[in-house]
Amino acid sequence: MAQKVQGTEDLFGGYMRAWQRMQDVARELFGSYGFDMIETPAIEQVDTFVHGIGESTDVVRKEMFRVFSGALLPDVLERGSEGHLKPRQRMAMRPEGTAGVVRAAVENNFVPQGAAPAKLWYAEAMFRGERPQKGRLRQFHQVGVEWLGASDPAADAECIIMLMEYFCRLGFSRESLRLTINSMGDAACRPAYRDKVRAFILDHAEEMCEDCLERAQINPLRAFDCKNDHCREVMADAPLAPDNLCDECAAHYAAVKRYLDAAGVSYVEDPTLVRGLDYYTRTVFEVEVVGAGVGAIGGGGRYDGLVELEGGKPTPGLGFAVGFERICLALAEQGVDLGGEEPSCVYVACTPGEDTRAAAFETCLALRSAGVRTEADYQGRSLKAQFKQADKLGARLCAIIGSDELAAGVVTLRDMVSHEQVQVPAAELAERVTARLA
Ligand SMILES: [Zn+2]
Ligand SMILES: [Zn+2]
Repeated sequence: MAQKVQGTEDLFGGYMRAWQRMQDVARELFGSYGFDMIETPAIEQVDTFVHGIGESTDVVRKEMFRVFSGALLPDVLERGSEGHLKPRQRMAMRPEGTAGVVRAAVENNFVPQGAAPAKLWYAEAMFRGERPQKGRLRQFHQVGVEWLGASDPAADAECIIMLMEYFCRLGFSRESLRLTINSMGDAACRPAYRDKVRAFILDHAEEMCEDCLERAQINPLRAFDCKNDHCREVMADAPLAPDNLCDECAAHYAAVKRYLDAAGVSYVEDPTLVRGLDYYTRTVFEVEVVGAGVGAIGGGGRYDGLVELEGGKPTPGLGFAVGFERICLALAEQGVDLGGEEPSCVYVACTPGEDTRAAAFETCLALRSAGVRTEADYQGRSLKAQFKQADKLGARLCAIIGSDELAAGVVTLRDMVSHEQVQVPAAELAERVTARLA
């Protein structure tokens, strides 16, 4: 039997409803902040991700799924690498949403000089060639926003406030969420800070793991994320980003915090929060569910240099992404089923006969026109079997059409819970059903 690829999942039933619910809530909430939906292609040129995410990140170095068309594949296999392919022929599945959206913004000139910021949100599948484990899939789903052209610290605060409101609307209690924030500086002050951290790691080289020594060369700030206990101990004394901000960055960070305070959004400052990707500048933030053990359920930050890296004019930007699968796990732990109950329906049953079947057919169409989810029998079942089927489908009401009903121009409406039955004029059925369901 054919099986799905390891680390991928089929979305159906309650899981699919949960994914749709995440999008519905996003559409409504993000829409009220002025965000429009965008969908970028699942495959991009590798350079889009290399420029956007950063060559030194694990995502780009180890986790991207490369894509080769049938025509290119033999060539790659034969020569053993894609290095000889033209850059345009090197493609990858998107491992995250930001780089593609920023590429699209540059290519379509979403933020011409002097224009209002572009505010975009997406709900997409992402692909990473990781070893699959709980809460970590090769194809996973994220909802995210990108806000391009806004440098105002109020934008950072609004982004964070919107994110926290999003979690609450999905069903998290505010008390269960821990929001951490930090500022990582910008092009003016971050290079010097990185050098300081690099020097610190090299000063403690004999006490740190090999990964961290490698990080010291390519991205020293990642050493703050090391899972090694000993490295954590050492890094506890490392120079901290907020202590090394230039005046502009310090003022920006202070303003973000003032806006959050004004909105009554509580947060924890974590001076070691660096986020995994290279492109963040100034504000970064992350949200965890206290005690859930699923890791961060969302996070993001400002990326003022990213649009330039993707070939656009200097444009400030910021955004966040939240992971669907982790949110489902974390909500389940709080006893919340994001998918909710199966939608109920009305079942149209009829006694055997050409006339009654034709009347049932018309009744189905009329109910559906009225927006009622309607089911019927398509397998020639007996009336008794149709009732059973209606129960199975979770029908709240059953509309029964027999030859007596047909002759009298009525339909018998049966409440599937109380089993109470009433006869209603056929012409009024849709109206009566809608009223009963409301
Ligand atoms: Zn380490
Ligand atoms: Zn700065």
